[in-house]
Amino acid sequence: MEISQKKEFNEALLSWYHQEKRDLPWRRTSNPYYIWVSEVMLQQTRVDTVIPYYERFITSFPTMESLAEAEEERVLKHWEGLGYYSRVRNLQAGVKEVVENYDGKIPQSRVEILNLRGIGPYTAGAVLSIAYGVPEHAVDGNVMRVFSRLFLIEADIAIPKSKKVFEQRVMEIIDETDPSSFNQAIMELGATICTPNPRCLLCPVREFCSAFEKGKQEKLPIKTKKLKKKVMTIHSFAISEPGGKWLLRKRQANGLLGDFWEFPQIEYVPTMDSIDALKNDTGLLIEQGEAYAQFKHIFSHVTWNVEGFHAVLVDQSPIPEGYRFFTEEELGQIPQSKPMSKLLEQLKK
Ligand code: SF4
Repeated sequence: MEISQKKEFNEALLSWYHQEKRDLPWRRTSNPYYIWVSEVMLQQTRVDTVIPYYERFITSFPTMESLAEAEEERVLKHWEGLGYYSRVRNLQAGVKEVVENYDGKIPQSRVEILNLRGIGPYTAGAVLSIAYGVPEHAVDGNVMRVFSRLFLIEADIAIPKSKKVFEQRVMEIIDETDPSSFNQAIMELGATICTPNPRCLLCPVREFCSAFEKGKQEKLPIKTKKLKKKVMTIHSFAISEPGGKWLLRKRQANGLLGDFWEFPQIEYVPTMDSIDALKNDTGLLIEQGEAYAQFKHIFSHVTWNVEGFHAVLVDQSPIPEGYRFFTEEELGQIPQSKPMSKLLEQLKK
């Protein structure tokens, strides 16, 4: 596609979008806060999964003030199951900044909005264009896939600096009269037609597509392989007390599953007995019981092979700082990470 075809391209793209777009709850609003919430939820999560979470979240926290003032545990409970919890923590922190420093109004310039916690270049562009109609790029992996094909761009999308090439190209082609529809139309095209296995015969902009013309659409985008993920074996201990209480500890705030409560666990290494490893790590002295759970949990950078064991404390065991016993009822009231939910599920079987 040539930049000179901008007008015809945008007419074809936008008329297709207005006819075919999916009716999604965040498309029925121009409230910048709601659009922000939806964009954060949609990162790494499918639309169908997001819809009920979005609706529940907006009902419980209908204004930025209500989210800014909410208890973090209550907010996390609304996110339970969506994963990548740092997203919602950053969202709440960013919303607090808007309430405190910007009189409750999300700033309308890229420079200011990028200063908010949790807002990166993609979310900034999405909120600015969709809510405020500012012609700004919002480039994520889907948009890079579509543009690499339309313009035959062979930059490696696994390399962060390649993104600039795509952002620049979006700015050259964006429809300045309706940037909101333009960005959403490209996202919609990437989600429904120009998918990893593109459905070119249904594509509204096929006649503009350089990759289609050259038969290269299946070969784009160029993406070098990621490094192999780390795999860890985790031994988790469901330590019970007579009376049906369970010993949990809070994970460190910074890092994977930060601030979530979990059964004490260690990374298993074949050269060391797990009970000794737990004692070295935490000071806890336990007697290990039978295994009750075994599953794999995949995070973005690491895979856990989790094995859950029953356990009891031995009499002289200290209870380290940051550890606490929970009743079953209390467990139901705190937000659970995915691995912890799976352990509790298998524990009940
Ligand atoms: Fe994507 Fe095919 Fe459309 Fe090109 S013609 S934009 S490859 S769906």
